[in-house]
Amino acid sequence: MAASTSQVTVLSVVGAGRSGTTVLASILGEVPGCAGAGEIRWLWERGVLDGRPCGCGEKPATCPVWSQVIERCLSTPGPDGALPTVEAIVAAQNRLDRTRSRWRVLRGEASDEDVAALRLTRHVTGEVVRGFAEATGAGVVIDTSKRPLDAAVMADVPGIDHYVLHMLRDPRAVAYSWRRAKPFSVGAETRTMGTRKLPAAVRRWLANALGTEVLHRRVPSDHWQRLRYEDFCAQPAASMDGLLTMLGVPGRPPFEDAGTVQLQPNHIVAGNPSRFTVGSVRIRVDEEWKSAMSRRDQLVVVASTWPLLRRYGYPWRA
Ligand SMILES: [Zn+2]
Repeated sequence: MAASTSQVTVLSVVGAGRSGTTVLASILGEVPGCAGAGEIRWLWERGVLDGRPCGCGEKPATCPVWSQVIERCLSTPGPDGALPTVEAIVAAQNRLDRTRSRWRVLRGEASDEDVAALRLTRHVTGEVVRGFAEATGAGVVIDTSKRPLDAAVMADVPGIDHYVLHMLRDPRAVAYSWRRAKPFSVGAETRTMGTRKLPAAVRRWLANALGTEVLHRRVPSDHWQRLRYEDFCAQPAASMDGLLTMLGVPGRPPFEDAGTVQLQPNHIVAGNPSRFTVGSVRIRVDEEWKSAMSRRDQLVVVASTWPLLRRYGYPWRA
């Protein structure tokens, strides 16, 4: 697939943080014609304003790919005829993220007060996707913004063939993972990943899952897949097969065996520090929570998420 064909295919990956979405984007980005963009939603705030590095190690403003995308967006007039500013883009995104606006956008019913913010966000999202496809030469862009709201915005961008992957992970594992202060290094610098307390992690997991259920009603069934992190880790190559078949992509990632893949440097913006991982990477399920998480904490998570936990096929007992 070439970027010169006017239509770009986008796979929006939705799911809670710490569900393996960034490594999934790294793997899919190795397939000819596909490119992992990372968390497109955070390009402006975390990428441009905070200067968090792209997967290539550069800040988006100096990355050879993202600098072109940013330039394109800021020099293309928005829906009101004016050139968008970074501040206006971030303000519009944050406006839509308010609880009542979020649910309306997810249902596809924006109110008058949100129309301007929605139009600008949708316009910029479209420019980012098309700019990224052009700069990388990919026809399929993987967006791991993760929030269903961002996938709902993407769904209404004109001229995009839009698919959704719901990536799930056991909420006990997610909550446990958020409590670990995981260090990582970027070049010579060592940083620590953000942490979340158990109630916050559970609340965010639930909000993500409920929002995804609402989004699901608006996406055709042949454009939607659900993948559990645990199943993906058990059979990464087979999981990617199913996904790429849905996307109509003939290529496959460079797996050395069923669970080991070769990763090259990428241009994944924002997201998990796994975006900096290159070389031969073995995909392993992280189930430390099963032995290290207290029984009490496990029960709190199960009690808070039970109907969905069951719906997604997770047993109540670890
Ligand atoms: Zn880059």
